[in-house]
Amino acid sequence: MRFQANEWTARSLPLMTWIEHGGVFDARIEAEVLVQEMPRLYALSQSSPRESLRWRASGLSDLALSERRYWLRLEASAQLMLVCQRCMHPLSLDLQVKRRFLVARNEAMASKLEDAAQDDYDVIAHDKHFDLLALVEDELLLALPIVPKHLQCEPPGTSQAVAPLQSNRPKPFAVLSSLKSITDDDKRSED
Ligand SMILES: [Zn+2]
Repeated sequence: MRFQANEWTARSLPLMTWIEHGGVFDARIEAEVLVQEMPRLYALSQSSPRESLRWRASGLSDLALSERRYWLRLEASAQLMLVCQRCMHPLSLDLQVKRRFLVARNEAMASKLEDAAQDDYDVIAHDKHFDLLALVEDELLLALPIVPKHLQCEPPGTSQAVAPLQSNRPKPFAVLSSLKSITDDDKRSED
């Protein structure tokens, strides 16, 4: 962190002042304390997290129509152990979040700016004791898939439910050997 003031923590941050100072947090939350630090997110976890959570927040400001705007950029990555909703086996999910927020002076300004906001950012209101970690947790929760699933898996019981071979179907080995002789022929013709 570039700017260090003892009373400022990621749990209680004077948001706009921190941004004015070009504040940066680049932090890691160890796996052992994630359940306490992010109880809403890790209540969904089926087993203790194995990997630490990484997050980075930085403040910057710019001028738009001679009005100074305050921005918060947020990146986070976390691993969650869930249950796959298709095969019901454990699923290790890697969550990635990359967001930016326009910081309004107060709640009233925030709702006004919200109406004009673009799709690529959200508006948050300034708070003298802003909880940055709660925002990280909120964004990771929003990044969760509605139905967590492996990319490829089968519902339980599918492997046993193989249809019996019909007698009029060609024997699989006969098909294989005819394919093999075709490729052999191809090889010969290439020689
Ligand atoms: Zn699965």
